[in-house]
Amino acid sequence: MTTDEIAAELRARLAVVQAEIARLEQATIQPLSPNFADQVGDLEELATNEGLETAHIHEAEQIIAALARIAAGDYGTCSHCGGDIAPARLAALPTATRCIACAA
Ligand SMILES: [Zn+2]
Repeated sequence: MTTDEIAAELRARLAVVQAEIARLEQATIQPLSPNFADQVGDLEELATNEGLETAHIHEAEQIIAALARIAAGDYGTCSHCGGDIAPARLAALPTATRCIACAA
């Protein structure tokens, strides 16, 4: 996979993640159900959504950082040892910042 192909995949994934964040945000601002019995379920869903949103925001940050590294020309370089990150590792985990040895 070329860096351009990885960048295209990262941008596509970012769009999906951002849409999901927007959807969860929208769900978060809905008023609670009028009856107490339903509010428990509402609050549980809210907690689940918040957890999901945090995970998505974290993923979006990693994707944006990877796109920034691609733009800067240092994508695929281990942030720890400065060596090359194996292409197979980047294919499996395009947002990886460390080579397999340093990640362990
Ligand atoms: Zn390394």
